[in-house]
Amino acid sequence: MDFQNESARTLGRPYRKAVLKALLFLTISAGTIIVGLNLAQGHLPLAVAETGMVLFSVYVLHSVRNSRHIERWAMVFLTPFCITMLFSMMLPTSSVTVFLWVLIIPVLAHLLLGRRAGLMVSCAFMTITAVIFWYRHQGQPDVLAASPVANTVLVALCILVFSHVYEVTRERSELRLLQLAQTDALTGLPNRIRLKEVFERERKRAEREQTPFSLIVLDLDYFKAINDDHGHEAGDLLLRQVADLLRRCLRASDLPARLGGEEFGVLLPNTSAAQAAEVSEKIRSRIGSMEVVFEEKRLGVTLSGGIAELGTDGDSLRSLLRAADNRMYEAKAAGRNQIIQPSTDDLFSALGNPDDDSHT
Ligand code: GH3
Ligand code: MG
Ligand code: MG
Repeated sequence: MDFQNESARTLGRPYRKAVLKALLFLTISAGTIIVGLNLAQGHLPLAVAETGMVLFSVYVLHSVRNSRHIERWAMVFLTPFCITMLFSMMLPTSSVTVFLWVLIIPVLAHLLLGRRAGLMVSCAFMTITAVIFWYRHQGQPDVLAASPVANTVLVALCILVFSHVYEVTRERSELRLLQLAQTDALTGLPNRIRLKEVFERERKRAEREQTPFSLIVLDLDYFKAINDDHGHEAGDLLLRQVADLLRRCLRASDLPARLGGEEFGVLLPNTSAAQAAEVSEKIRSRIGSMEVVFEEKRLGVTLSGGIAELGTDGDSLRSLLRAADNRMYEAKAAGRNQIIQPSTDDLFSALGNPDDDSHT
């Protein structure tokens, strides 16, 4: 499942839940009244169908409260909802106004299922309704007169198009806002919020598939001096160049991020600490030889870094960041322009030291 689809689904969940609950409340209240009316008028099949719908709505309302699978529940509800309507339309005793329900489906389907499934369900339902309408009223020229039919079809199409355009635009705007909230404005790299989100997803995958997962923290050396000597703009330019270089050095599955200031983090799924050391060495040497020209002056920078590995250094982002940060400060203390990875002692203590007999 791609990230955009998953994000769109997560973002739409609160709206969809609210609409589904409102629809269920309405169905239960209106359904109870309709059951009474149908019984009073002697429409037994309709009364039975409505009673089933009311009981079913109560069950869905109860189930949906704590569920994360809103689209699934919406589909579970919409299917019999649509079937009941189609069933009512087919009954020779039902009024022609029952066909007006076709107008609510595009709105409901888009609000509850999103743009793609919403469009498919709306088109399918509207087509079936049109066929039933034509089948029931063939030979009735007053009902099938051109003007009322054309008006009804046009209104239905307008509602379908507006619902679809609204849902597409809403989804796009929300994804854009989400992207802005998770992107660093200066470098265009993902920020800490995005790093945390991807970390949680990749940690679960690494634990499930028993694959290694590493994190690198990188901090530019003596960066304050660049700002002091050449101005903040020169510093900004360097930061952007470092970000570009990080993007170019890494695989599509890796995630470079700006943690803040002149500090960067890189998530490396499917990568052990030893492999992460090779990657960070490549980054270190490329940054070290990078030259940025600012106002005809050549600027250069080096970086220091620390590596942490899932398992060896804990299993939360906080513990991995702390371990990588500590190693980065060791690198600074050892003279900068170097990367420090977990030592064999760290690996042993994570595995349980075979020489440690304290448990025997
Ligand atoms: P060290 O080698 O110990 O890391 O030294 P340093 O000078 O890099 O570290 P320090 O933390 O003292 O300074 C970091 C500087 O980064 C301070 C601040 O001026 C600069 N900085 C932070 N964010 C930005 C930014 O967005 N743009 C620019 N131009 N500078 C920034
Ligand atoms: Mg620094
Ligand atoms: Mg720093």
